[in-house]
Amino acid sequence: MQIKAPLTGIVIPLHLIDDEVFSQKMAGDGIAIDPASQVLLSPVDGVVSFIHPSKHAISITPSANFEIELLIHVGVDTVQMKGEGFKSFVKNGETVKAGQKLIEFDLDQVLKKAKSPHTLILITNTVDGTEKYSLTFPVQKSGFVEALKSDLFNVNEKSATSSKLTKPDSNQVFKKSIECKIPMGLHARPASMISKIALKNTNGAVEISKNSNTANAKSLTSIISLSVAYGDEIEIVAYGSKAQTTVSEIENLLSEITHETSTTQAQTATTLKHESQGPLFNGITVSPGDSFGQTYVYKKNDIRVASSDAKGFSAEKETIRLKQAIAQAQRSIEKTISELTSDDREKSSIYQSHLELLNDPEVLNQSFDQIKLNSSAEYSWQQSIDKTITLLKSLKNELMAERSYDVRDVGQKVLRILMNKENFETAKLNLTGPTILIARSLVPSDMSWLDSQLIKGLILVEGGASSHVAIIARSMGIPTITAVKEAILSVVDGTPSVLLAKKGAFNVAPTAAEIEQVKKLNLQDEKEHSINLARAKEAGVTLDGKKIDVFANIGNIAECEASLKNGAEGVGLLRSEFLFLDRSTAPTEDEQTEQYQKIITSFNKESQKDVIIRTLDVGGDKPLSYLKLPFEENPFLGVRGVRLSLKYPTLFRSQLRSLLKVKPLSSLKIMFPMITTLDEIFAAKKIAQEEADQLKVTLPQIGIMIEVPSAALLADALAPHVDFFSIGSNDLTQYTLAIDRGHKDLAAVADGLHPSVLQLIKLTCDAGKKHNKMVGVCGGIAGDIQAVPLLIGLGVHELSVSVPAIPQIKSLVRKLNHSECERLATEALKFSDAQSVRSLVDKVLSERI
Ligand code: PEP
Ligand code: MG
Repeated sequence: MQIKAPLTGIVIPLHLIDDEVFSQKMAGDGIAIDPASQVLLSPVDGVVSFIHPSKHAISITPSANFEIELLIHVGVDTVQMKGEGFKSFVKNGETVKAGQKLIEFDLDQVLKKAKSPHTLILITNTVDGTEKYSLTFPVQKSGFVEALKSDLFNVNEKSATSSKLTKPDSNQVFKKSIECKIPMGLHARPASMISKIALKNTNGAVEISKNSNTANAKSLTSIISLSVAYGDEIEIVAYGSKAQTTVSEIENLLSEITHETSTTQAQTATTLKHESQGPLFNGITVSPGDSFGQTYVYKKNDIRVASSDAKGFSAEKETIRLKQAIAQAQRSIEKTISELTSDDREKSSIYQSHLELLNDPEVLNQSFDQIKLNSSAEYSWQQSIDKTITLLKSLKNELMAERSYDVRDVGQKVLRILMNKENFETAKLNLTGPTILIARSLVPSDMSWLDSQLIKGLILVEGGASSHVAIIARSMGIPTITAVKEAILSVVDGTPSVLLAKKGAFNVAPTAAEIEQVKKLNLQDEKEHSINLARAKEAGVTLDGKKIDVFANIGNIAECEASLKNGAEGVGLLRSEFLFLDRSTAPTEDEQTEQYQKIITSFNKESQKDVIIRTLDVGGDKPLSYLKLPFEENPFLGVRGVRLSLKYPTLFRSQLRSLLKVKPLSSLKIMFPMITTLDEIFAAKKIAQEEADQLKVTLPQIGIMIEVPSAALLADALAPHVDFFSIGSNDLTQYTLAIDRGHKDLAAVADGLHPSVLQLIKLTCDAGKKHNKMVGVCGGIAGDIQAVPLLIGLGVHELSVSVPAIPQIKSLVRKLNHSECERLATEALKFSDAQSVRSLVDKVLSERI
């Protein structure tokens, strides 16, 4: 017989109830609910066998089985409330139907006056002191139960054999006492695996006991609530014909997990073992440099809905908005799950539970009810999430409290989608000194609030070396490594540490000697930098007289000044996205002209220089909140770059017009991103020409990014129709090697020096030479010391690099020999992997510098 929940709330195992009578099951077996509703409904058809005069407790005898008595007791110690705050709707002896209202109570008063609001639902059937029934509890997925909808437990009549449980038959009962050797105790993962084994024991119960508490081993929650820790003695008891198999399976499982954990711990210990005091973490270099600072593990701040946003449009519209946002969040979580490997079981189960939370009827209904009161989708969702978190935290149960973090996480995810603030960040870090910031991941907009004075290094768990975050880190000159083991997130804040980004190493709690060494390296770097800076304004000419232009990659006006100081001979790439991202509406034409003009003016202060402004390149990992771009499975392969501009011609025309209004127009060069086909060049140029005609100006030079393999392969055919090429090696590498540029695990393989990428660069350079068109590189490899000799050797004329790298790259160019670079490039193209290419260049460079 199934017993449904008589009220809505969160399930609590009996042993957690703050009253021995209930926790020791003296009053009977069952379960408790921490109520979220205030009406008690009859869970079964039956007869009221007893209602307490204080109306806080009621017994029902179900019509289906007159031997059972079901006791529902609202709260603990509610008897002393003497009926205050309680109202009953039925009388002793009255026949009731399932769902019929039994008692109404005032939860506020119960919370104030009783020991706890935990409501007990018990089977009080004892026959001659022997239990005649056993209860089985379904695995509660979320801990939430809904009145009359969720099953609470099953009441099973003990069979002839199982009724002998008190005097166990050796064939039917099997017990085993073991010591828990799992370092984290019986936490969620082992508990869920145990419950899976226990559930297979269909014809008998399975229990785990610790001290005098017994858990139903078929219930994950029940097992966890036993709080079995490392070293605790537990007893596993199984009943029924498969009792012995069940117990040994559980025993084997526990020893397997114990073994697994100790092996991984041993492995971790060896990888992290280092002669210094603290562990050493390895990662991929994103931005070079050596630094020293205290650790700070950064966690994203929550966003909140302002009360001014509390009002919605119409209930219908807000309901649809919320549903769409939830669906988007679900898709994104599903995508995350699909990217996990089989080793990520733990992570996968966390994300699965997030999906369940997005389907939680209580959370959803509360939100939709709030929307009906004219609230906005975001406000209603926030209210519902807040309520749920408060409820979970109030339970004073660690498991439930932990769950509240998941609710918060999921809540924020939906809120960010609703508020178009997926990249939103309000963090104000309270940094007191030089800091190495550790984060799971950062988004480009996070970088805007980083204080480069105090942040001496970045350590990321996720994100590739050519992600936009990486690009920004380089432009800010912050030593950064990525793809670092997740364990880094557990480093205690304030730990002195050393980052050797060039080597991809991060040393937590280094020795005094190691700190000294970093200081020495810093001094060396500084010395080198000041020598390079002193000659920064001189041209970058190779030993045999080949001039290589060294330009700046900039993302905003603030970088102009520093670029000129560092000797930039022009701007090789202005990512115009900076004007479009992180705002709720598109910039107006005038606004854009003003900004472009400022950059052109600033760069022409000393002498006229070329400024290449790339038209909008959004999509991929750069979404635009005000362009409701449809969901794409693979946004990097979708409508991004020039494809997006051609799809939204109004936006494109407005950007082109604003560009064509700058003065002197001869300083401006316009560049289209993500060109894949000749048709796109024709279409984009046609629009640009029309706008120039309207404004009665001559179209300035038009170039394209070569960042898609098709464009490199067709370079010979594209060259006659453009004025210059600029190689976007970040995307070119991503598309050639089929590796997401932000991929956390493949960052090390996504190397722009892979010979396949070099071949495409060669094709581009050859086409440029044949048609007499300038070829530059504005992707990350232009600032990579090992790549520079090869690029020069392949025929690149211009290197556009992050601002801090300019003096160093110019200095490097001056040390190279063009003809030697050509020979080196020819050699490199014969290899079939990036590592061999790098070793070859290293050999030559070590002789040169
Ligand atoms: C590139 O892809 O190399 C490039 C310079 O463009 P972005 O990094 O802005 O995509
Ligand atoms: Mg690109």
